[in-house]
Amino acid sequence: SMASPALLMRVVASAYSVAEKAATIVRNVMAAGDLGIVEKTGANDLQTKADRLVQMSICASLARKFPKMTIIGEEELSTDEVTEELIEDGHCEEILKKTCPAQYTGIKEEELVIWVDPLDGTKEYTEGLLDHVTVLIGIAYGGKAIAGVINQPYYNYEAGADAVLGRTIWGVLGIGAFGFQLTEAPAGKHIIVTTRSHSSTLVNDCISALNPDSVIRVGGAGNKIIQLIEGKASAYVFASPGCKKWDTCAPEAILHAVGGKITDIHGNSFQYNKEVKHMNSAGVLATLRNYDYYASRIPNTVKQSLVP
Ligand code: AMP
Ligand code: MG
Ligand code: MG
Repeated sequence: SMASPALLMRVVASAYSVAEKAATIVRNVMAAGDLGIVEKTGANDLQTKADRLVQMSICASLARKFPKMTIIGEEELSTDEVTEELIEDGHCEEILKKTCPAQYTGIKEEELVIWVDPLDGTKEYTEGLLDHVTVLIGIAYGGKAIAGVINQPYYNYEAGADAVLGRTIWGVLGIGAFGFQLTEAPAGKHIIVTTRSHSSTLVNDCISALNPDSVIRVGGAGNKIIQLIEGKASAYVFASPGCKKWDTCAPEAILHAVGGKITDIHGNSFQYNKEVKHMNSAGVLATLRNYDYYASRIPNTVKQSLVP
């Protein structure tokens, strides 16, 4: 008989179903109409009832199945009892059928660190820009992002009632990424995707220095990586602190699984061990292709303003 699937594949398969449950919660909270908005550090740093319920759902569901993993979620929550209706115990069979890359077959539960952004793009969620929102579950081993799940709960929401609402993208280094059509951005065009709600002079000066053909301003780190892998943008440029490890872990794994690259603005790779500082203080630079073109054009003045 077949050996049982490797731990990594079981975690990814479960994270897939947990993220789908999360998407249902995100849609249900919006449909019920009471977002329960709380300001965290200020008006541009919000938490809603969906952020809270989804974090409880994801963290409790994964912890129940894989109790020795480290799970780090964005939201600081009171230790409320998690109700049973928030628990998801399913998994995606398709993922279990894939072969785990040899270098990951020996991974033990206590060696995995899970970075959870229950709702990425909260500001846009509160403003009705619903397709900017994603649920991010990143899986790190040895300090590296090796697998991830991105759910986009409102994918297709403007495509009419017949369209299937929502999608789940997943990826593992050495296997690839699935749930979308990999597309390269138009050759020879420099289309930059950046923040919509966290701009600054430095953010805009850095983009100007790259002399882009166009700039797309949308919410969410997950959403911006989707713009890269679907060929809508050629580079994600964010010359500012503000983005955290739970914003970049799942997107990084998926982008790297299809041959892209994400670093801070200096070109340093991100680390995802459990002791690491949460803030990506030196910003974000990501591309599917032509990373060096953008990296070589980041002004030194911008680099000097962003200390890792
Ligand atoms: P954005 O591109 O503005 O949607 O940001 C991507 C992610 O980083 C989101 O999770 C934001 O909440 C977070 N982020 C970026 N800048 C800031 C900031 N200045 N304050 C709080 N969160 C931020
Ligand atoms: Mg986020
Ligand atoms: Mg969030």
